Amino acid sequence: MIYDAVILGAGISGLSAARFLKLNGIEPLVIEKNSYLGGKAHTSKVADFIIEEGPNGFLDNKPDTLELVEKSSLLQELVRANEKAEKRFIFSGSRLYELPFSPIAFIKSPLLSLAGKLRLAAEPFVEKKESDETLADFVKRRFGKEALNKLIGPMATGVYAGDPDTMSVESAFRRIKELERDYGSLFKALIKLKKSSDAAAFGGGKLTSFTGGLTQMSAGISKGIKIKLNTEAFSIKKDGKLFVVETSGGIVSTRRLISALPAYELSKISDSFDKDIAQAAGMINYAPIDVVAFGYNRKLDLDGFGFLFALDDMRSAIGVLWDSSIFPRAATGHSLIRVILGGARLAYIAEKEEKEVINMASEELKRTMNLEIEPDVVKIIRHKKAIPQYLMNHKDVVATIDGAERRHEGLRIIGNAFRGIGLNDCVSAGKRAAVSIISCIS
Ligand SMILES: Cc1cc2nc3c(=O)[nH]c(=O)nc-3n(C[C@H](O)[C@H](O)[C@H](O)COP(=O)(O)OP(=O)(O)OC[C@H]3O[C@@H](n4cnc5c(N)ncnc54)[C@H](O)[C@@H]3O)c2cc1C
Repeated sequence: MIYDAVILGAGISGLSAARFLKLNGIEPLVIEKNSYLGGKAHTSKVADFIIEEGPNGFLDNKPDTLELVEKSSLLQELVRANEKAEKRFIFSGSRLYELPFSPIAFIKSPLLSLAGKLRLAAEPFVEKKESDETLADFVKRRFGKEALNKLIGPMATGVYAGDPDTMSVESAFRRIKELERDYGSLFKALIKLKKSSDAAAFGGGKLTSFTGGLTQMSAGISKGIKIKLNTEAFSIKKDGKLFVVETSGGIVSTRRLISALPAYELSKISDSFDKDIAQAAGMINYAPIDVVAFGYNRKLDLDGFGFLFALDDMRSAIGVLWDSSIFPRAATGHSLIRVILGGARLAYIAEKEEKEVINMASEELKRTMNLEIEPDVVKIIRHKKAIPQYLMNHKDVVATIDGAERRHEGLRIIGNAFRGIGLNDCVSAGKRAAVSIISCIS
């Protein structure tokens, strides 16, 4: 049988592409190795706790995700983060500091020294640089070392589990680099864009999820779509204009193929089909993450979103999320905390025994929050290859992938490894792939 479209991978990227194809009258077949949908976006229910195994949510300022949610009849299930969650903290030295979000709060905040604040305030006078550089070099040049250590480094680790010394600012934070090029200074850009629709470049949007967690998103967007679970794609071949995919459930053929696989999987299965794809995808490194969830059958005083660590104070955890203070993730009178460990800078943690990682997480709660209470529920989720890293070679990797899409009519390559790692990026890439692949086949 020849399918109208085949999608490899039922993470948020693959499912978004599938839904947008279906909305445009094409019935795709989705092939998924796991026994469940959603890939990294997966939720478990343990006792009285709803535990996200991966992402927490997405910002509601991107129209493609909201369109997907609306067209999948999921609007009623959306839940916005509690107002309290706007309070975010940084652990630096030996204590938590609330992140200042207004100029006055920034001036008053003890998080940065006076010298650090003055250096940051000098940003408009720093000359712009056209070429790409590492995030660490960019931030040190524009804002100074202290801002890297206590503000932007923790944020980059929080989003990418990345290492600012190796990440490419242009690939990982493209808009920020563009603003430097266009306005000469990020502060100047902020002032000019503040009231325009482009203010989203500096944040904006409310953290959003679903009442039952992100699993509800994959369940909703996949409704009515033909999906083969527990089916692994082994290889792609070309037969004239047809893509022929060998899977553990047999051969499938199609003229429209969307890969929404992790890069290392795409690399493996495309080796005999297109060496350039295999090689480029194989160059993407992934950072590991361990997520340790602690559930407490009592109310803890968790006032805010949680915290990130200053780079100099990162020992094993890269962030702590006060989940039950953000979304309804625990029964009344209960509390849920997730400790995120590892990342590119602390990758060795992925090699440790499970028990040791749980101990590390609990030590981090003692060190940072003085939390000595024993949890009632403990769950660890180990992502050996959690988040793709956009390094200095990333632009070349993406250019090769773009070239392969042009060479093979009917092929699209999406997934968080290439053009954005956020859930919003994955949805947008899925939509773009679906819409463009319909018209590319006559
Ligand atoms: C701990 C953690 C926290 C995060 N937090 C956030 C957050 O709060 N907000 C946010 O926006 N983003 C967050 N992210 C990033 C976001 O979750 C991911 O970028 C996104 O979910 C990736 O979706 P994807 O579909 O591209 O890839 P994946 O979710 O990895 O999906 C790929 C799918 O392909 C399948 N597959 C693999 N090989 C094969 C094969 N050979 N054949 C068939 N199927 C195969 C896999 O089983 C998987 O289902 C987080 C990520 C992690 C790990």
